[in-house]
Amino acid sequence: MATDYVSEWMTDELQALRDVARQFFEREAAPQMAKWSEQRYVDREFWVKAGRVGLLCPTVPEEYGGPGGNILHQVAITEEQSRVLEKGWGNNVHSGVVTDYILRYGSKEQCERWLPSMVEGTVIGAIAMTEPGAGSDVRAMTGRARRDGDEYVIDAAKTFITNGQTADLIIVAVKLENPQDPAADPRAITLIAVEADQAPGFVRGAPLRKIGQHAADTSELFFEGCRVPVANRIGAEGAGFPALMNQMPQERLILAVNAVVQTEKAVRLTLAYTKERKVFGKPLYDQQNTRFVLAECATLARAVRLFVDHCIVAHARGRLDNETAAMAKCATLARAARLFVDHCIVAHARGRLDNETAAMAKWWLTDVQCQVLDECVQLFGGYGYMEEYPIARMYADARVQKIYGGANEIMKEIIARAL
Ligand SMILES: Cc1cc2nc3c(=O)[nH]c(=O)nc-3n(C[C@H](O)[C@H](O)[C@H](O)COP(=O)(O)OP(=O)(O)OC[C@H]3O[C@@H](n4cnc5c(N)ncnc54)[C@H](O)[C@@H]3O)c2cc1C
Repeated sequence: MATDYVSEWMTDELQALRDVARQFFEREAAPQMAKWSEQRYVDREFWVKAGRVGLLCPTVPEEYGGPGGNILHQVAITEEQSRVLEKGWGNNVHSGVVTDYILRYGSKEQCERWLPSMVEGTVIGAIAMTEPGAGSDVRAMTGRARRDGDEYVIDAAKTFITNGQTADLIIVAVKLENPQDPAADPRAITLIAVEADQAPGFVRGAPLRKIGQHAADTSELFFEGCRVPVANRIGAEGAGFPALMNQMPQERLILAVNAVVQTEKAVRLTLAYTKERKVFGKPLYDQQNTRFVLAECATLARAVRLFVDHCIVAHARGRLDNETAAMAKCATLARAARLFVDHCIVAHARGRLDNETAAMAKWWLTDVQCQVLDECVQLFGGYGYMEEYPIARMYADARVQKIYGGANEIMKEIIARAL
C-alpha cells in the first residue's frame, strides 16, 4: 500500500526501538487512555515504566544516565507514540524539549543533578514561556524575577503549560529586574529551572479543559514571590531568548513528525473503511470519487512524509534551519514540492522510482504549480493577465501540465489501484 512508506533514515536499530515502543504503548498506555482523558493527565507511574524500557530522553549521553542516542531515536519514539495513541502524553516536551535545554545550556552540575532522574521518569519536565498576555509575542511577557542574595524571586503567571500538573522541573522564562544595571535590555529573557517541591510560592492551577487531547496535562502555573537558588539559572542572565529560538526548530520538527504520522494514519483508516463499506452493492472505494480523493490524500501524505524526512535528516546533521522547520510545521507547498521531486530524482537515479510514486509526483507537482501560479497572478492584479508579464505566460503555460504526460485523473487511477 502506498502509505507503507519506509523512511530513508530508518535503520535496523531504530526499527528495533520502534518495535519496543509500539509494544509498550499498546500494552501499557492504550488501555489507560480513557482514564487519563477523564482525569486530564497521564499517571506518574507510566513515566517511570517508560523510563524503565528506555523511552525517555534518548539524546541524553551515558555519563548522565541516558542511552546516548540522537534525534532519530527521539523521532522513532514520537512516531510510534503518535501511531498507537491518541495525543496526550507529554513526552515530546519532556524528552524532546526540556532535556535539550538542559543539555545544551545547562552546566555540568545541572546535567548531573537533573538528567538521570528525567531519564528514569522520576522527574518530569515542562517549559513555561506562554502567559495570558504573551503567546506568539514571547518578548511581551511580563513575568519577572529579581535577585535577592543567592536566590531569584519569581513573580509570573504562565498558561497552557504542557505537563503543568505533574512536572517536577519547570524551565520558566522571565525578565530580570536589574536595579544594578538600568541600561540592561528590559526585554531580555532569562531561563530559570524551578524544582516544584523546593519552591515556596509555586502554585499549580487546575488542569485546563481543552476541546481535544484530553489526556494531555495542560495547566496554568503561578509563581508568587517564588524563591529559587541562583544556581538554577539555565545559561547566562538575559540569554534566554536566543536559547528559546535556537530550540524552536527541534520543537517544530517534532510537531511536524506528529502531523505526518497522523496524516498517514487518517489515510490508512479511511482506506480500510471505504474498502469495507458497501454502497449500491459495491465497496465505497470502487466509486471513482472515493478513489480520487484517497489518491490525493495519499499523495499529500507522501509529500509531507518526504518533507519531514528531509527535515529529520537535516536536523540529525545539525543543518535544519529555522525557516525550513517553520515550513515543515505548516507543510509549505513549494518546499514540499521541491523535496518530493528531489526524492524522485534520487530514487530514479538508483533505479528505484516506482510507477505509483512517479504518478504521485506528476499529478501533485503539476497541481501545486497551477495553485501557486494562480495565487501569484492574483497578487499581480490586472497586470498578471497581460501577456508581457512573465507571470501571465507562466500561468497560461502551466495549465496543460495537468493534462499531458498522462492526465492527472489517470495518475490518480494508477495510485488508487496500488492503495
Ligand atoms: C495544548 C497546548 C499546549 C501548549 N503547551 C505549551 C507549553 O508547554 N509551554 C508554553 O510556554 N506554551 C505552551 N502553549 C502555548 C502556545 O505556544 C501558544 O498558545 C501559542 O504560542 C499561541 O499563543 P496565544 O495562544 O497567546 O495566541 P496569540 O499569540 O494571541 O495569537 C492569536 C492569533 O493571532 C495570530 N497572530 C499573532 N501574532 C501575529 C502576527 N505577528 N502576525 C499574524 N498573526 C499573528 C496567531 O497566529 C493566532 O492565530 C500550549 C498551547 C496549547 C493550546
